[in-house]
Amino acid sequence: MMAANLNTKSTVSALQMAWLRELGIEKPWLPEPTQTKNPAASDAPVQRPTELNLSRPLVKSPVVTTAQSSGGSLDTMAALGEVVTQCQACGLCQEREQVVVGAGDLQPELMIIGEAPADHEDRQGKPFVGKPGQLLDNMLRAIGRDRASRVYLTNAIKCRPSGNRSPRPEELAACRPFLVQQIALLRPKALLLLGRFAAHSLLGGEDSLQALRDKAIIYRSEGLEIPVVVTYNPSYLLRRPEEKASVWFDLQRLL
Ligand code: SF4
Repeated sequence: MMAANLNTKSTVSALQMAWLRELGIEKPWLPEPTQTKNPAASDAPVQRPTELNLSRPLVKSPVVTTAQSSGGSLDTMAALGEVVTQCQACGLCQEREQVVVGAGDLQPELMIIGEAPADHEDRQGKPFVGKPGQLLDNMLRAIGRDRASRVYLTNAIKCRPSGNRSPRPEELAACRPFLVQQIALLRPKALLLLGRFAAHSLLGGEDSLQALRDKAIIYRSEGLEIPVVVTYNPSYLLRRPEEKASVWFDLQRLL
């Protein structure tokens, strides 16, 4: 069962070690006690978590004219999925092959949010496939989890930007209500945000990924208080494998 607090464990099982080697990490660098990101485990003065009150009205889809005109409701994941697949709220609808709504357990302990579908995800209509998906699987196994067990996967925006370019602010803003509604319906116990655009879309602001990784963040909306961990996107890690150890640090906070 995933703890709501973000404690760091100090041991690594043989199975986790095997997956760490697959990640390219030979030594499970664990935070020194003085370097821990968990204030409760440190002698250092307690630092208040960043409290983000992101309370906004549940979307009745101001961005999706088809849902409004048909009287569509977004109070179930199935209904939300239908609306998202018809969405034309931003220009990405003209470039997509398929909308990638999300996939996984509908009562998740962990909800993982990436940035945007890439080409192979656009073709398959599923999040986190191909090499980035394989690396994500290895990341999850390194903390004793897998995508089939109480995990839901999605992206900040649901349609592929052509040429795998970065999503634009207006595209992130147009799609954000869907993400907020997914969280409200799924009520995960923890959120893992992969990459700067995923973090900015949900949390707002323009903090660097490094700054976000160092913060204790609570997502607050609609009565929910969900701990958030921000780390690198698997696609970035494929280009910068030397950052895998940093991700290992970050994922410890989900244990
Ligand atoms: S990216 Fe989001 S807002 Fe834009 S068309 Fe796709 S579903 Fe709609």
